[in-house]
Amino acid sequence: MRYDPILHELIMEPKDCSTCMWQEPRGSYPGKRTCHACGGTGNGPRGGKGTCRGEKKAGTRLYDPCYRGQITDHLIRMSCPTCGGNWKGVETDSPYDHAPRGMLAGLIDAGFVGLRVIRQNREGTALERLLGMGLWSTTDYGDSWKQTDEQVREKVLKKIREDSGQAVKWTEPVERGALRVPVVTEIVVLLHRGGYSVVGAVRDKDGIKATYV
Ligand SMILES: [Zn+2]
Ligand SMILES: [Zn+2]
Repeated sequence: MRYDPILHELIMEPKDCSTCMWQEPRGSYPGKRTCHACGGTGNGPRGGKGTCRGEKKAGTRLYDPCYRGQITDHLIRMSCPTCGGNWKGVETDSPYDHAPRGMLAGLIDAGFVGLRVIRQNREGTALERLLGMGLWSTTDYGDSWKQTDEQVREKVLKKIREDSGQAVKWTEPVERGALRVPVVTEIVVLLHRGGYSVVGAVRDKDGIKATYV
């Protein structure tokens, strides 16, 4: 995915097949063969139905697991069941995918997306404590509440630099298959007495119009 600075949108782009992403060669997939331990029955050494542990890996305590009498063998290469071997550009990014690592921090650094702290003199909600809100929620029993807004902002930006998270956490709400996705205007740190939540928000001339959780 890439950012369009004119429309302030993320553009979803083609990406390569994810099923065979880690396969070598790309576009292939490991095949199956009959398990030598059970001869394909799936039964254990004492005849227990479906209890075969698989083939012991030589010199280790590990097993290649047996599934219904079959072993996955990486030496047998078949074509990928998803892309059939044509792996280039067969899928499309989704706003639910992880955005590239430095992407959100880059938008903040360049001023396309704001980052500010709003102090709310309240306790954390159950939603924040148990499920988390927005990009993430932190419970720190007042550590951040004691810091300055600038210190909190720096701390949050440091974490955003390491991980942009799912793009949809900092876009306006969209369908899973959306190809153009409006980006929020701000990341807001909702700082409360017990911690904070980092959420995407859209600001209009009157202030914050909507906050997405
Ligand atoms: Zn077996
Ligand atoms: Zn594939």
